[in-house]
Amino acid sequence: MDLSNSEIVHVKEGPIEYLQFRRLLQYKDILKHAYSLGIDRNFRTSVSNYADAMNDYKLLCDAINLDVKNIVKPLQIHSDIIKVVDKKSQLHELNSDGLITNKKNIILSTTNADCILLILFDPKQKVIANVHSGWKGTLQRISVKAVQKMCMQFQCKAEDIIICICPSIRKCHFEVEKDVKELFEKEFQDIEKNYFIEEKIVDKKWNIDTVEINKQILQKEGIKKNNIIDSGICSVCNSELIHSYRVEGKEYKLNTAIISM
Ligand SMILES: [Zn+2]
Repeated sequence: MDLSNSEIVHVKEGPIEYLQFRRLLQYKDILKHAYSLGIDRNFRTSVSNYADAMNDYKLLCDAINLDVKNIVKPLQIHSDIIKVVDKKSQLHELNSDGLITNKKNIILSTTNADCILLILFDPKQKVIANVHSGWKGTLQRISVKAVQKMCMQFQCKAEDIIICICPSIRKCHFEVEKDVKELFEKEFQDIEKNYFIEEKIVDKKWNIDTVEINKQILQKEGIKKNNIIDSGICSVCNSELIHSYRVEGKEYKLNTAIISM
């Protein structure tokens, strides 16, 4: 099975498989990145899985010529907190859902199993960010807050920032009940409702397109439409290669997105 499409390349190298965004590969002299594939991998750095996770991180980092020792990983808490990182050895120590750096040789890593992960790159100011935006993070507009922080702290301009959207649950599978639907309606009154909510008349459920919401609010923030690169891949539809909370249940494992200059 090959997930390559017009925006992404599916790389298989020895024991490891991953996706890369064609757009970011244009900068491969200064930027490295990957989104992990394979349900045998698990990037959950909990105590019980730590050794296996670090082994998987090493395989993935080796495959794209990064040093696994440089990984920085937030303790994701479904918040809108974004932290600036300027030194290594902060694995799993930061209570946040987004990381930004302008330093070389720091690998920013987030993990998901259905949530949206966004990787951001400003090729002019040489700043990178990695953001975890599940449906709660999307309601808090964390992707927009990451852009704002890049602009405020590193003099980036929104028009220069490239944003890549990794595989996540998509509208086809993100079904919610009335309570959650109403949270989205209330928060996103600035977006045409038909863009992101679809009602299933029969069973009174609603499908929400959280990827489309992120695209819309990022464009309102000044991100150019052609600088938003969407993998277009649903984690539930592709659960034979990508971990999905909805498919795997309570024992779900984690994928990772990594980016480094
Ligand atoms: Zn799907």
